[in-house]
Amino acid sequence: MNETVKDKTRRQIIIALVCALIFLLFMAAIIYITGDCVLFHLPRGAEFSVDSGTAFDDSDIKAYFKIPFSNMGLPLELERLGYVDVNTPGSYEIVYVASFMGVPHGQRCIVTVLDKQAPTIGLEVDPDYRADWLEGYVEEGYTATDGADGDLTDKVRIKRLDGAVEYTVSDSAGNTATVTRHIDYQLNCPTITLNGAAELCLCALPWYTDPGFTAVDAQGNDYSDKVRVEGQVDSDAAGEYEIVYSLANASGDTVSAKRTVTVQMDDCGEMCEPEDKTIYLTFDDGPGPYTDTLLDILDAYGAKATFFVTGAYPEYARCIKRAHEAGHSIGVHTFTHWYGKIYSNEENFFQDFLATQKLIYDQTGEYTQLYRFPGGSSNTASFVNYGIMTRLSKSLEDMGYRYFDWNVNSGDADGLTGATSVANAIIRGCAGKNCAVVLQHDIKGFSVYAVEKVLQWGQENGYSFKALDTESPGMHHQIVN
Ligand code: ZN
Repeated sequence: MNETVKDKTRRQIIIALVCALIFLLFMAAIIYITGDCVLFHLPRGAEFSVDSGTAFDDSDIKAYFKIPFSNMGLPLELERLGYVDVNTPGSYEIVYVASFMGVPHGQRCIVTVLDKQAPTIGLEVDPDYRADWLEGYVEEGYTATDGADGDLTDKVRIKRLDGAVEYTVSDSAGNTATVTRHIDYQLNCPTITLNGAAELCLCALPWYTDPGFTAVDAQGNDYSDKVRVEGQVDSDAAGEYEIVYSLANASGDTVSAKRTVTVQMDDCGEMCEPEDKTIYLTFDDGPGPYTDTLLDILDAYGAKATFFVTGAYPEYARCIKRAHEAGHSIGVHTFTHWYGKIYSNEENFFQDFLATQKLIYDQTGEYTQLYRFPGGSSNTASFVNYGIMTRLSKSLEDMGYRYFDWNVNSGDADGLTGATSVANAIIRGCAGKNCAVVLQHDIKGFSVYAVEKVLQWGQENGYSFKALDTESPGMHHQIVN
């Protein structure tokens, strides 16, 4: 063997290098197998949460092989084992697996699906249902379900809104759902329609009768008897009065209409000339049991008056003759005093009118041209027939009759029941007027007994008491129908 020392040294170096290489390969194999060079990239950590109802996205989770002794990595394919149901809140375990050189490496993660989904509210709709405005909405039905809590129907809160119902429900995680049902019952909302004018001007009326109203919806349902009427008119006190007609339903919705009634005590049409200072006492609804007494009192004071007569008390019809012969004026009032009939139509009116004329003719041998409307020409009782007062007043004047209202209301048909109070009301009404037409009723004893005091006061204060004739001031009220 001629192996030199040099050769021996070279062989020893090669052996050492091979050994080192084997050692390195062995170490690398150990590292591969233990996985220290397979790393998982978990930006949200090994436990993370996702919101329910959203798509489960784990594309940010990655695995790679880290090249030893470098900062470089080789991406590895990643497999997910396990399932996350994003629609069902809860905890899910999943494992990510990455293989390198046929050796699998795993990473365990816990994914919590948070309940972020509001419950679902379902509204039942009955196609045949028609909401009634007055009765209010009757619930057609609803359901509420939640992914986490299940059936929440009995937790639904209901709120009535204007023309709508709002349903709200919350789940145990605090997610709230609200749905609104729009109700067309406003379409069925009735309208209150006033009979007659919304603004009435009345003058010294004995009483106020509301012309009435209707409350009907688009389907023709009549709610009139459910209307609430608030406000009163004191026909004895000048002023402006407001009457409110309203209808409220179960939901608190209201519809209303308003009427303004102005009561005037003076300024009722034509006035006498200043020097006249005249009082025209007028007595309606008689003659009756007190008419003879009244005629005696008038005679005693040399006073003249006017009687607007009826046929209500035939046994006293003879008083018409007596009054006429004593120089008082006789006028037509009404035979029946039945507002509902005489103002229902012209035929009924003139039938009643002519019956009274005949009564007067039978007693006096004359037909009268003087007339007083039952309730006055401004009465609101005639609203049974719209416009009839306007037509009748014109017809009567066209035929040569003269109708008379009044500008002093004695109150004897308006709550006063004593002779003194009636006399005081008349005196109060006449004081300061040059021309007074006083409304009284001679079928009321206390009103007749009030006359003497009025006559004394009038004569002491320079008034003359005259009977109305066709030349007298009409003292017309404002016709409101
Ligand atoms: Zn009358």
